[in-house]
Amino acid sequence: MFRRDTTAEACFRLDVRTWLEANLPPALRNRTTRPLPDELMPWYHALSRKGWIAPHWSQKYGGMGATLNEQIIMTEELGRIGAPHLPVQGLNHIGPILMEFANEAQKARHLPPILAGTVIWAQGYSEPGAGSDLASLTTRAVLEGDHFVVNGQKIWTTWGHHSDWMFALVRTDPQAQPRQAGISFLLIDLHSPGIRIRPIKTIAGDDEFSEVFFDDVRVPAENLVGKLHDGWRIANALLGHERLATSNPQFSLMALERIKIMARASGIMADPAFQDRLAAISINVTALAALFSHAVELTNEQRSPGPESSIIKIFGSELLQDLNVLLVEAAGGLATVDRPIETEFGEVDVATPFLQARRVTIYGGSSEIQRNVVARRVLNLPN
Ligand SMILES: Cc1cc2nc3c(=O)[nH]c(=O)nc-3n(C[C@H](O)[C@H](O)[C@H](O)COP(=O)(O)OP(=O)(O)OC[C@H]3O[C@@H](n4cnc5c(N)ncnc54)[C@H](O)[C@@H]3O)c2cc1C
Repeated sequence: MFRRDTTAEACFRLDVRTWLEANLPPALRNRTTRPLPDELMPWYHALSRKGWIAPHWSQKYGGMGATLNEQIIMTEELGRIGAPHLPVQGLNHIGPILMEFANEAQKARHLPPILAGTVIWAQGYSEPGAGSDLASLTTRAVLEGDHFVVNGQKIWTTWGHHSDWMFALVRTDPQAQPRQAGISFLLIDLHSPGIRIRPIKTIAGDDEFSEVFFDDVRVPAENLVGKLHDGWRIANALLGHERLATSNPQFSLMALERIKIMARASGIMADPAFQDRLAAISINVTALAALFSHAVELTNEQRSPGPESSIIKIFGSELLQDLNVLLVEAAGGLATVDRPIETEFGEVDVATPFLQARRVTIYGGSSEIQRNVVARRVLNLPN
């Protein structure tokens, strides 16, 4: 978008585009909610068989080991064709964390099924009393012999009811001060006895997340990642990956395309004031792509993203909300319907992405919390 492909990159782009056109089922294109696993996972498996499921993973762990530009080309081409939102907790969140913090046995056991798409992961951080103030979490894990016994509850667990495993933050030392020093990072098989999962519907009407209850759940001690009580450091490294990955410009690119179709269909595209706003927001999407590539470059060098992941999370998530506001304006009077709008250029769903975009400034740490991080870690302002 903001740079020119070399000859080799142009060939790679053409390969990606041709393969996506030939292999991504039309029914999975431009979906505004995430399809259910039965429909979505065959697409994950197809990308996996092609070797393109993990462009950012090194070849050592079975990834594509793609260059930064190749990763950006993949993102742009997936956005261009309107590829669906995959379950990324394995690929983008726990995968890179296992590579950095897990022992060899844990890597050998858990990384290949993520690539193959035979195991789906969920993130167990938030609790009813612990969201922004994550260190106040109370789900308890007590070491008894060679097992932890886990009791408590997680909430807002994305795809929890479709997942096989959860990476969870648990309290292993309730007396520790500061509170962060009593937290451990545990891998929990969600098919274990004592686990109950209840889906929660979102404002957009999809069952995206769930509540997960633990009642005397026995978890083998070998599922501890890192050292006992040292989970906070790992949790924060993972949040950096999450903030960066969720700011991927693919969804902003898709939103921009949706606006253009809607604006042509409603006629507002001819309005110079609208054109100005569209130009301004297009520039911001280009800026996000540039910011994203810079952050990925830094991450490739340092392994874990730094505070730049907070900056990009604020910019990327607030931009996606602005894009969806402009989409509603592009639809004008038609925007009041809660189903896709038929236009001469194809169907455009306005209501669902608008409602869904409300969530993006909350998950992975809200915009307010990201601004606190930037204030402390970038600007060195006092607490
Ligand atoms: C779509 C979606 C998917 C999610 N998926 C997962 C998941 O898979 N796993 C998981 O563990 N969690 C998940 N979450 C939960 C998410 O991480 C939390 O919602 C988030 O951290 C905010 O916590 P909270 O909801 O408890 O809000 P609260 O922490 O109660 O915050 C409420 C409001 O107060 C503001 N606020 C709080 N503290 C401060 C402060 N110190 N300074 C300024 N403002 C403040 C917040 O910004 C927010 O606006 C998901 C959330 C959403 C919306």
